Amino acid sequence: MTFSIHGLAVARGIAIGRAVLVASSRVDVAHYFIDAQQIQQEIERIKRGRDAVVDEIHRLQDNIRLMGPKDTPQELKALLDVHLMLLQDEELIGGVKFWITDRLYNAEWALTTQLEIIGRQFDEMEDEYLRERKGDLEQIAERILRAMRGQADPQIPLPKSTRKSPQAELLLGDTVDVPLVLVAHELSPSDMLQFKQGVFAGFVTDVGGKTSHTAIVARSMDIPAVVGARTASQLVRQDDWVIIDGDAGVVIVDPSPIILAEYGFKQRQGELERTRLMRLLNTPAITLDGQKIELLANIEMPEDAEAALKAGALGVGLFRSEFLFMGRQGKLPDEEEQYRAYRRAVEGMQGLPVTIRTVDVGADKPVNSSQKEDDYLNPALGLRAIRWSLADPPMFVTQLRAILRAAVHGPVRLLVPMLAHLSEIKQTLALVEQARAELLRDGLHFGHVELGAMIEIPAAALMLKTFLKHFDFLSIGTNDLIQYTLAIDRADESVAHLYDPLHPAVLQLVAATIAEARSQGKGVSVCGEMAGDAQMTRLLLGLGLRSFSMHPAQILAVKQEVLRADTAKLASWAQDVLVHDEPASLMASR
Ligand code: PEP
Ligand code: MG
Repeated sequence: MTFSIHGLAVARGIAIGRAVLVASSRVDVAHYFIDAQQIQQEIERIKRGRDAVVDEIHRLQDNIRLMGPKDTPQELKALLDVHLMLLQDEELIGGVKFWITDRLYNAEWALTTQLEIIGRQFDEMEDEYLRERKGDLEQIAERILRAMRGQADPQIPLPKSTRKSPQAELLLGDTVDVPLVLVAHELSPSDMLQFKQGVFAGFVTDVGGKTSHTAIVARSMDIPAVVGARTASQLVRQDDWVIIDGDAGVVIVDPSPIILAEYGFKQRQGELERTRLMRLLNTPAITLDGQKIELLANIEMPEDAEAALKAGALGVGLFRSEFLFMGRQGKLPDEEEQYRAYRRAVEGMQGLPVTIRTVDVGADKPVNSSQKEDDYLNPALGLRAIRWSLADPPMFVTQLRAILRAAVHGPVRLLVPMLAHLSEIKQTLALVEQARAELLRDGLHFGHVELGAMIEIPAAALMLKTFLKHFDFLSIGTNDLIQYTLAIDRADESVAHLYDPLHPAVLQLVAATIAEARSQGKGVSVCGEMAGDAQMTRLLLGLGLRSFSMHPAQILAVKQEVLRADTAKLASWAQDVLVHDEPASLMASR
């Protein structure tokens, strides 16, 4: 039966495919397709993993026998029997084989997929004792996975997110490949990143706000995504057909043929629109009244520079360096590793400027995915971004040294996130000086970098003169500026309706920042999601913004708006919007 689930629209476009449900605790399990010739080998890997666990249990049982009945609790014996029984379970083994042979999933992916299906059956059981056996099932799966980790893992990631299947042939005609869409309760930004080159054509998560970092990474992947879909991971079943409408924030499950046809049409329309926009690729971004507009790219990894160049970006306006630090179980990248990564981005941009933001972990970007936000009282207000860096000066100086060294290879701007206090500014600048002095002492080459500050806390937007005294340029982080001005957690879907870029208070802070920087002849850019929203382009131009930084995939749509704009006319309209009680009501009037 067809039904729909509503969430938040995150990344545009329509994806139609089969659902792959991944439990949050299992997203780090490798997901890739195997070749048909590898089927037997994958089945063998699973078998060996299972046999290893069976042997382990037999050994434990032997030990128990040796210890004698007095020293061993009865529950332990019973538990081992249950585990052995589950390991022989036909539904588990048969299911895993199905995913490997029929869908060509790698062994680990096949195991966790089947586990999810059986887990749901346990959830639905009336008998409490049986329901609780789900925990045992998860334990044995964990043990099999652990045993398999000891084996060689022949990862062969597929370049495409599709595979042929008989079901697709029935639904979509016999020449169509079937895309897969990921449905999960929650994905951390670094989990999301590992799917970047991967197998999925769309994403749905239960939690998350529009500008949560998970959503931002999904947007950078330029595939349809919906977050904040609340119960999606409970309502959707493994292998269900799903449509993700990333423009409307809707997920349609088990669509009827009519709905499928309608969305198939929309999907093709979207593709045509993209092809049409591609014609603007080599057109310079100049407004009707001759204003040159700088369109820059936001990137997460050095290799994203390629997509930035391809999309016609004139540089990188935000390299979120924290993605080099996340998901590494606390082992942070050393200076050489960072230097190589920054250098790669700088060289990748072929002489265009690269703005490297110093590490901004914390809040919804934990350094370790096991470290949950709830471990802190109030993560968004806690030790994140520059606060985290200043709490560990040697770590921060290591990063600064790496960035300064990368500046030998091309123009680099250094951007500091989340500053609010003069004392933080002074400490940061002192550490930049220290990094330079150390490099001189060590005889290592380093280049000149322009220094910039992010304006993303209202306090910073209210003390611009101080900031401009110390920095060469400003970059407005509207994602956080909105979060902190309106006291709305950007990652919390339950208050997402209050997260409003057009709130008069937000607009006034953005406008004041642009005006003050310009009046002092300093560079100012917006690098939050607002810069990539084509519906905001005219307003930002009217407020005097001439530099926008966004995901590469958004550049052409924003450029289209730039080419149609007359900044002289927009300026007076933007002033009206700025003083209006309900700015949104004026947005359509231009
Ligand atoms: C912002 O806050 O707008 C920003 C660009 O930084 P991030 O989204 O990484 O917090
Ligand atoms: Mg920010």
